[in-house]
Amino acid sequence: MRRIGIIGGMSWESTQLYYRLINERVRSVKGGLSSAPLLIHSVDFAPVAAMQSASDWAGLTAMMVSAGRDLRAAGAQALAIATNTMHKMAGEVIAATDLPLIHIADATATAIRADGLSRVALLATRFTMEQDFYRDRLTAAGLSVLLPEAEERAEIHRVIYEELCRGVVRDDSRAAYIRAIAALRERGAQAVILGCTEITLLVRPQDTDLPLFDTTTLHAAAIADWAMAG
Ligand code: GLU
Repeated sequence: MRRIGIIGGMSWESTQLYYRLINERVRSVKGGLSSAPLLIHSVDFAPVAAMQSASDWAGLTAMMVSAGRDLRAAGAQALAIATNTMHKMAGEVIAATDLPLIHIADATATAIRADGLSRVALLATRFTMEQDFYRDRLTAAGLSVLLPEAEERAEIHRVIYEELCRGVVRDDSRAAYIRAIAALRERGAQAVILGCTEITLLVRPQDTDLPLFDTTTLHAAAIADWAMAG
């Protein structure tokens, strides 16, 4: 199998899901004691989140490029960024390392298109929802993207950083997400992208009639498949 380097820890609550999901998929396909050869570079999320809220994207790009180079030096043959938001720097990481990058939005768009769907709601951090790096990637893959209203986006973002990334799962926050999904359904959404790798801790398939596309699960599957294709 090929060895993938994962830039994780953003937050570790979802990186631990990646680790389990990747290895479960490898075991289910290859059987026996097979598991994925992985390198995980797990950062301290506190300064990362502080730089995000200060819009220090240059500092974050330098941090991500350095993590990618470390993983390459350690023997990674491809990279994966285990958060949607930090795909903002995916291009710079690829350019600096010259390694293939398994992109979370591509894995997600491929699954949505395979189900014959095109009009999707995006729940994510406000960076991912409101900046164009992620929506443009989905649009280029043939999807049209609906966003929650501004007040709902603020609440979705708050829950990610104040609760989910700290391992806190609250029923009232789930109810707020479900209300936002219902409103998006009214506006024509055919499916929902859980576009932050921690939302899967909160919103479950039984919470809505709309199909959920969980970026953590889909990205982990793409990573496992890339490793096994070697
Ligand atoms: N894990 C989240 C995401 O998928 C948010 C944390 C971060 O800002 O990286 O976007």
